[in-house]
Amino acid sequence: MLNKIDFDLLNDIVSTPGVPGYEARIRNRIIEEIKPLVDEFYTDNIGNLITVKKGTNNPDGKKVMVAAHMDEIGFMVSHVDDQGYLRFIPLGGFDPKTITSMRVIVHGKKDLVGVMGCKPIHSMSQEERNRVVKLDEYFIDLGLPAEEVKELVKPGDTVSRRQDLMMIGNMLNGKSLDDRICVYALIEMLKQLKEVPYDLYAVFTVQEEVGLRGAHVAAHGVDPDFGIALDVTVANDIPGISPDKKVTEMGKGAAVKLYDSGTICDYRMIEYLTNIAEENKIANQTEILPAGGTDTAGIQRMAKNGAIAGAISLPMRYLHQTTEMVHEDDVKAMVNLLTTAVTNINQFDWAHK
Ligand SMILES: [Zn+2]
Repeated sequence: MLNKIDFDLLNDIVSTPGVPGYEARIRNRIIEEIKPLVDEFYTDNIGNLITVKKGTNNPDGKKVMVAAHMDEIGFMVSHVDDQGYLRFIPLGGFDPKTITSMRVIVHGKKDLVGVMGCKPIHSMSQEERNRVVKLDEYFIDLGLPAEEVKELVKPGDTVSRRQDLMMIGNMLNGKSLDDRICVYALIEMLKQLKEVPYDLYAVFTVQEEVGLRGAHVAAHGVDPDFGIALDVTVANDIPGISPDKKVTEMGKGAAVKLYDSGTICDYRMIEYLTNIAEENKIANQTEILPAGGTDTAGIQRMAKNGAIAGAISLPMRYLHQTTEMVHEDDVKAMVNLLTTAVTNINQFDWAHK
């Protein structure tokens, strides 16, 4: 059982860039960590990192796939103007009002820190003051002369966010905890695991933030019998939202997913995960997410015969904003539930009742 978060490892994982389609740096960092923990690993053509731990009691060749996406929301430079300002397109879903004066890293010939610029309030018309700035009104300011910017940056270069990871009370706060906190949880699961009965595929997927693209390919390739996705979910236990819309609550444990907009989870998997949590006294809650999908959908549908799929979700406040927040106890519960679930998966009840 995991009792303490490895803050330094998590910090490294959230700080390593990897916007959709450009996950090589984070993938290499994960490989360093998982190399001694698995029997084999490989990268497929789209870039998913697939690790394999052989089952010790598996005459029928059953496969369990557990996945967390390693991409993070970011941007791609689309234009460098004559003054050296950068224009960009988003890679993943941004709320434009949250990026004002945010620090970013432009991955040009070298990494360059920049800031998301827009007009200050002093220079806005009354009409502009009353509306939200649109994403395409922002520009990135590198604080360098235009000639130098043009030398170092070109269209197609990627941009990630720059924020320190820190503890605020009992919560972890930083950028890209969606879904790097679950990347961390998946690595911790591999560290905690001893033997598994069925072959275990721990997969770090790519391009989730632009539509579950990596998970589709990974599930097609692995062809699992069981699938468990790990991702963050909405914790609407904040002012201004009524209790029936809370989805999940911080500090109440790992959330067993029942539904999201891409998946109706297999009721046998829901029951299995819930029972395992209860029997092992692991804090848990349920999650019904009306809007928003996860890799669960890709895993459930892209296995040849479909997979018995579900997900363990981590409650999060301020998703896809400047900094995101999760409760450290929920992270521990997620790791412990996942580890216990894959260790006992040979006790899964396949019967349709
Ligand atoms: Zn995510």
